Amino acid sequence: MPVRQLDIQPGKKQFVSIIIVSLILLVGSGWAIVNGAEEGSVSPTFLGSYGTAVFIFEVITALLLLAQFLRTGRFTYAFLSLAYLWVALISPVQIMLLHETITLTPSFQAGGTEAAWLWTFWHIGFPIIIAIALGLNGANPIVTDRPKFWAWYLFTAEIIVVAIILTLSLFGWVTLPEMVSQDNQFGNILKNIIGPLVAFTCGTALFMVVFKGRFRTDIYAWLAVAMLAALCEGLVSIYSGSRFSVGWYAARIFSLISSGAVFLALLLDTMALYLKVIEQNKELRKIASIDKLSQLSNRREFDERLNEEIRRAIRERKPLSLIMLDIDFFKSFNDSYGHQAGDRCIVQVADSIRHVVSRPADVAARYGGEEFAVLLPDTSEQAAFELAEEIRQHISDTPFKLENGEQVAVTASFGVSCLHPTTPSDGGELVKSADAALYLAKRSGRNCVQRPTHSWHCERQLQEAKVDGHPEVLRKHSPVSTDPQC
Ligand code: GH3
Ligand code: MG
Ligand code: MG
Repeated sequence: MPVRQLDIQPGKKQFVSIIIVSLILLVGSGWAIVNGAEEGSVSPTFLGSYGTAVFIFEVITALLLLAQFLRTGRFTYAFLSLAYLWVALISPVQIMLLHETITLTPSFQAGGTEAAWLWTFWHIGFPIIIAIALGLNGANPIVTDRPKFWAWYLFTAEIIVVAIILTLSLFGWVTLPEMVSQDNQFGNILKNIIGPLVAFTCGTALFMVVFKGRFRTDIYAWLAVAMLAALCEGLVSIYSGSRFSVGWYAARIFSLISSGAVFLALLLDTMALYLKVIEQNKELRKIASIDKLSQLSNRREFDERLNEEIRRAIRERKPLSLIMLDIDFFKSFNDSYGHQAGDRCIVQVADSIRHVVSRPADVAARYGGEEFAVLLPDTSEQAAFELAEEIRQHISDTPFKLENGEQVAVTASFGVSCLHPTTPSDGGELVKSADAALYLAKRSGRNCVQRPTHSWHCERQLQEAKVDGHPEVLRKHSPVSTDPQC
């Protein structure tokens, strides 16, 4: 299941939040237009935190949208990212110019008018780029298979354009018509030209987001809020009549909503994505550690757990036991009844192991083919031996049912070993000695449990098999169980 971001449809709660925020924006704008002309004072603390918040929101939003462009190659995301980068690059300088004049040289000074011009570039550029982004998002969205190249190209181009705008504004090489008077009153250009222009561009962008984005994903839904906030900010800012008035401060709050809306939506998406990735990682680890046929641990997981348990046994000075078991005459089983029956037989033996081995710390694994391993932390050799014996008994007590109803005896041979490990390499020793014991069990006649040095138990098992087994099927499948050797 691929992890998808930005394709999350807004739920009911999101729609309710969007409606509430939009209502706040509309009611707040109405209030600010009526009461906005009241004079306020300059608050450098407010300006500092406002500027920092806008910059951080916009940079992170731009980066998250850029990541989406790199992932999908869809130009819509590239332009959305460019729109936020545009604000991130212009807004810090604009906000710095609001309060104090920056003097680069005695003849080059930038202040209130430059701030108003930068605000204009910010508030016309942002909706235009958003509208372009939405325009590229038709039924067949425009996509590239070289998003990195285009990202470099587009972002460099935008940075150059912003650099030119900032240079021209700050160095005063172009005489910009005055928009704000010395006492912070907005002039006619702002009211009669820039105001309608900002309203038109923000309105167009809002229209595009609503009618082309159609609230399909939470990003489009919150982008609509952002554009409504930008429209409210533009209108309230200009029609409040002067800088640092009540309306002007209200407009700054709308500006924060405008920059924060998509940022928050992306942040929530990223959070959901993060949780999903952790969940899927767990799932993947599980899939990677389980043997598909038997549903026991696989060889890889066994090797890892063996390493871990050896270290733990060294640390805690505890014994570590291992049972290795191998189905007897499985080749002839396959030859007689087919591989599919063979597979089902492997599953049945795995079930027997699962039935007996129940401690959470124990590791039952399919070691390979028809061979299994059971790792038993903090278990003595005698306890491991008894457990192996129990598994052996369960396997031989559960004949395999063929599809025609016939029953076939299944047996397995067991090797048990136990160590008090002292070095990490003792894992190899443990496997080697269990394997040697298994070999001994095979040589001793199969269907028995062996330790590397004891053979007496095998004889007892053989006696039991002769008495308790299923003689007619045993002969068919396990001829050696009647071998007088064992
Ligand atoms: P022994 O009693 O000495 O263990 O004899 P054996 O026939 O079991 O031993 P051998 O190693 O000669 O044969 C193992 C067979 O197990 C060979 C292979 O066809 C079969 N086998 C291994 N993995 C699978 C599997 O996943 N499915 C099936 N159906 N058979 C398997
Ligand atoms: Mg075998
Ligand atoms: Mg084998």
